[in-house]
Amino acid sequence: MADADKSIHIIGGGLAGSEAAWQAAKAGAIVTLHEMRPILGTEAHQTDQLAELVCSNSFRSDDHLNNAVGLLHEEMRRCASLIMECADANRVPAGGALAVDRIGFSSAVQAAIESNPSITILRGEVTELPAPGAAATIIATGPLTSSALATEIQKRTGEDALAFFDAIAPIVHRDSIDFDKAWFQSRYDKSTTGGDGKDYINCPLDADQYAAFVEALIAADQVAFHEWEASTPYFEGCLPIEVMAGRGPQTLAFGPMKPVGLTNPHAPDQKPKAVVQLRQDNALGSLYNLVGFQTKMRHGEQVRILRMIPGLEAAEFARLGGLHRNTFINGPKLLDPSLHLKSDPRLLFAGQITGCEGYVESAAVGLLAGRFAASDVFGRVLAPPPPITALGALLGHITGGGDANNYQPMNVNFGLFPPIETQVDPEKPKVNKKLRGKLRKTAIAERALEALAEWLPG
Ligand SMILES: Cc1cc2nc3c(=O)[nH]c(=O)nc-3n(C[C@H](O)[C@H](O)[C@H](O)COP(=O)(O)OP(=O)(O)OC[C@H]3O[C@@H](n4cnc5c(N)ncnc54)[C@H](O)[C@@H]3O)c2cc1C
Repeated sequence: MADADKSIHIIGGGLAGSEAAWQAAKAGAIVTLHEMRPILGTEAHQTDQLAELVCSNSFRSDDHLNNAVGLLHEEMRRCASLIMECADANRVPAGGALAVDRIGFSSAVQAAIESNPSITILRGEVTELPAPGAAATIIATGPLTSSALATEIQKRTGEDALAFFDAIAPIVHRDSIDFDKAWFQSRYDKSTTGGDGKDYINCPLDADQYAAFVEALIAADQVAFHEWEASTPYFEGCLPIEVMAGRGPQTLAFGPMKPVGLTNPHAPDQKPKAVVQLRQDNALGSLYNLVGFQTKMRHGEQVRILRMIPGLEAAEFARLGGLHRNTFINGPKLLDPSLHLKSDPRLLFAGQITGCEGYVESAAVGLLAGRFAASDVFGRVLAPPPPITALGALLGHITGGGDANNYQPMNVNFGLFPPIETQVDPEKPKVNKKLRGKLRKTAIAERALEALAEWLPG
């Protein structure tokens, strides 16, 4: 087979595109990876590195037996994921979560891709889709797809791209935090291997301070909507704090500011009404981000209101929160079970543009797209991973499981997995109602890893 026949073009060198390139090259394909940065930037990226993390530095829970995203981590590791390998190599302390030094992480991804002889990186915006019948192309341009290409995708799919908001959480310099008020502790003293149970910085608020804080959030000056944004719904999983505050006075105290699993060493007898947690954001430990504090308040307001938090009165911000567009297609309507555009199967979609949500999910869908595209160019058929795996459950959601009439982005979660059934009568399987809570999650996870082993080539 001539090299040209084995070629795959990937548009977008983010989490999904980088993983797709790696997987396709590993399967023997010749890959051209197109990335528009630094020639053209996006509203959120700040560097020219591949796989840049635009907001939090967390890949979320790493507990593969009790958490769906932790299980997805594990499945990706077993599929030789580049993103997971680089994340593991650049871990920073974060309790039971997998968080990374963002610069170390994206530099490692870029170095691996650059040194792969089967991958060529081309910098520059792609503004047109290949003509139908051209070489296999994976579109992995993410939530901030350039507008020229978004218009092309719209024309090709005949669908209007949807949009919603993601909000960036602010990052604080650690040396500007007042440790006479704040303290280090993970919830329930939980830590990753080798950790000391003190991965987070905690700032306590008493009832009066909490009430004043919520009031200030509700009254805050917010970024005005553009006309095109005005009718766009928020993604429920990423609500700005001021929107949460507006939903009721106790919403934050039961959400990102819940005070559970923590004891304030400065006042061990007083239970705070609420706690703001900050998570390490770089390997040096000099920067910390406010966990769950996505916001669309104006920058001046952010500084003023966040400095009301005890311990952050003199906080210096390395980055303030912001508001961003998110573009995604109607996956269940447009894509076949292996991520090909039904109307033009030489085009595949990967990453957040398919309507998955999150760094890990985007990379996971990139992993699958890279493998599917490589199978295409070698004339092989690769069956999708079984739906009882995390990879299969996520893929199933974006290629048919999600409601095409009201399609909304989704993080991986155990709700996407088929329930565990009793095996007593295979003709009439019944949901095993005895399996609940942790037991159920662990059973789903063990079943998934077994099924993945069967799916993976030996
Ligand atoms: C502001 C914001 C904050 C987010 N915060 C989080 C978070 O904290 N945690 C989390 O898990 N997820 C977060 N997400 C969601 C999502 O997980 C990330 O956006 C993730 O990076 C998606 O991966 P991706 O590969 O699909 O897209 P990206 O990582 O964005 O990669 C797409 C790449 O395509 C390039 N590109 C775009 N158009 C073109 C073109 N026409 N030609 C060539 N290149 C192009 C871009 O420059 C970019 O490098 C956030 C999203 C946004 C927008």
